[in-house]
Amino acid sequence: MSNLPEIRITNCHIHTFTNDHVPRDYPYKFLRLFKRAPILIKGLAGLARLLGQHPVAEKLDRLYQFQQESARDSQTAVLEQVKKHYPSNTRFVVLPMDMRNIDHGPVPTSQRDQHNELNRLAMNPDHLGTVLPFATVNPLASGSAEEGLRALEELHFRGLKIYPRMGFAPDHNVLMNKVYPVVDKLNRPVMTHCSRGGVQGKLVSDHTANRYTEPRAYIPVMRKFPDLRICLAHFGGQYDWKVYAEGREPSGDENWQVQIRRMITSGDWPNLWTDISYTLFHFDDYIPFLRLFLLSEDDEGERLRSRVLFGSDFYMTRQEKLSERAVCFRLRNALGEEVFRQIAVENPEIWLGEREG
Ligand SMILES: [Zn+2]
Repeated sequence: MSNLPEIRITNCHIHTFTNDHVPRDYPYKFLRLFKRAPILIKGLAGLARLLGQHPVAEKLDRLYQFQQESARDSQTAVLEQVKKHYPSNTRFVVLPMDMRNIDHGPVPTSQRDQHNELNRLAMNPDHLGTVLPFATVNPLASGSAEEGLRALEELHFRGLKIYPRMGFAPDHNVLMNKVYPVVDKLNRPVMTHCSRGGVQGKLVSDHTANRYTEPRAYIPVMRKFPDLRICLAHFGGQYDWKVYAEGREPSGDENWQVQIRRMITSGDWPNLWTDISYTLFHFDDYIPFLRLFLLSEDDEGERLRSRVLFGSDFYMTRQEKLSERAVCFRLRNALGEEVFRQIAVENPEIWLGEREG
């Protein structure tokens, strides 16, 4: 982006965790074989190509890339990969996960070690000022809240990441009574996964997972903590954008993308945010809608523009066709310099509590 004006982008949503942070049997027991020998996927891709199954081969190639990313032996190695796609002054909100107690088997690395490694990454002279580490809490695992608070209070992590789809409500009593009060007092933001896809507790039904994940599940949290800045990641998720784009649910009442827009533009929830990570990596399908929402001249457009964050979801995006770099350029081009700057530079600073919004 060298011939564009120098700006400091903050990518509000990336992951650097590795196989060691993922439960042994996730997502399926049979994949254990592939995790240990990802070259098998490469082999299958070659076979599919031989058989003329090019779309299958392409999918397998991307799965292989994804495997390669998560099989890197350290969070540093993953970070170095994502950094290649961005200007050198770009900052990254790095989101860990605590995937214990979701019935997918044991997790090799502890939550504490994951936080400590992330802390070392943030302190590493090569990355100083570019890594904004978040703490994670999974209230299903004992001691998780305490460890999350240690990362926030002692390691000065920049915010909290939660993932209710694993099997808990966002107003779980541990979060409401132990965790949010501290996050609120420290003036840190919350990032949470809001899409029908992603990691789910093995014994959690889709219906229940959706009740834990849907935008309105945050109403009790926002009522009790009106100053807490909560970002519903993925803008409702790819599935709900697809349903919206195809006009399959005209009322929009059960569509999470519509729900998020309505909640933000209503003005009732002034500290509710969303990010465009992953979902907008299906760029051609959804950018016309995002443009319409964000470039609208009315009050609703203005309100929405002030609450959308740029994020990518690296390395989940390695399963998709377009690179981070390509999407970043296209987004900047499609939204225009002013709106891109708002969602990628100014809004993240407000959400992170670095400046008044
Ligand atoms: Zn993510």
